[in-house]
Amino acid sequence: MIDLIETVAEPLVDAFRRPITYLRVSVTDRCNLRCVYCMPEAGLPWIAKPDILTFEEITAIVGAAASIGVRSIRLTGGEPLIRRDLERLVAMIAAVPGIDDIALSTNGLLLEAQAPALAAAGLRRVNVSLDTLHADRFTAIARRPGLDRVLAGIDAAVAHGLTPVKINCVVMRGANDDEIEAFAALTRERAVHIRFIEVMPVVENVEMQRDAWVSSDEVLARMNVLGELRPVPNPHGNGPARTFAYDGAPGTVGVISPLAHDYCETCNRVRLSADGHLKLCLFGDNHIDLRTPLRTGGGEEAIVEILRASMHVKPERHFLDLGQTASAMRAFSEIGG
Ligand code: SAM
Ligand code: SF4
Repeated sequence: MIDLIETVAEPLVDAFRRPITYLRVSVTDRCNLRCVYCMPEAGLPWIAKPDILTFEEITAIVGAAASIGVRSIRLTGGEPLIRRDLERLVAMIAAVPGIDDIALSTNGLLLEAQAPALAAAGLRRVNVSLDTLHADRFTAIARRPGLDRVLAGIDAAVAHGLTPVKINCVVMRGANDDEIEAFAALTRERAVHIRFIEVMPVVENVEMQRDAWVSSDEVLARMNVLGELRPVPNPHGNGPARTFAYDGAPGTVGVISPLAHDYCETCNRVRLSADGHLKLCLFGDNHIDLRTPLRTGGGEEAIVEILRASMHVKPERHFLDLGQTASAMRAFSEIGG
């Protein structure tokens, strides 16, 4: 079946000849945390429940994407683990011909309880967000407590083979940048893969972002003081991180600079919002409604056609520079892949 798909259908390639093989699927816009760089304390104007794609609708879109070359799916949010019975969706996607990798980005709070069922359903690996190793700071950054649960979630992910476990840490000056060395040192003892993400501007955090931004170059320089870092391949996955390791270390460290334009050069991804819109770039307002055609009887063929047409409008790169505000869009869920 997979061979048939690979030989018959023309793969999805954008106007800049980048093959699109990776689809990020947001399964909810809601979250059980309120990270300061991501959403306001009061939450967001949430998508109405009937507008959220069902598991069947998500699987139909994944099926269409897989038929033209998409191979990797990442489930994200909001917080994906608050969507009930997520393991059912994982199993449905795992059964789609052509999909050979299913990953999850989570804040980890609910991971300990769900890791066994998710792994059994076909989830391969997880990225867990963790910005601090101190409980009080965790509560300040996430505006809710939970460090212990996140650490237990990471252990459960390792125990159930959801590996390599990547830990995403958004670096903020004055909030957690003094923990760069402690996070990096962990990779010398444990097979964890820490990726430091530059904080990006979204509508909710513009002032904070400007003051708190720490460049990846600074992060790398500080980690190099602990010992020489050598470049290594990205542990499983084709994400945008530049990855390094200390001599003999079981883990790796990486940096992600979403504002750097080389981030865009190898872009192989599109994303699907929880309400069924195809988003073509991390920063940008262009999105295409897939939910309406799906709900008005358009089948897989209609979705394939729209996916192909969308390749003409996927931009070559984002046009955001440091200190600018993303034009009223949310960079939700694209990062950390
Ligand atoms: N709730 C899940 C989580 O926190 O991992 C998945 C969704 S979250 C939006 C995906 C990733 O985006 C997380 O690693 C989070 O830290 C990161 N993120 C969110 N807002 C960001 C921002 N303004 N700048 C940089 N990274 C951000
Ligand atoms: Fe929730 Fe993830 Fe955003 Fe934090 S980064 S508020 S955990 S969606």
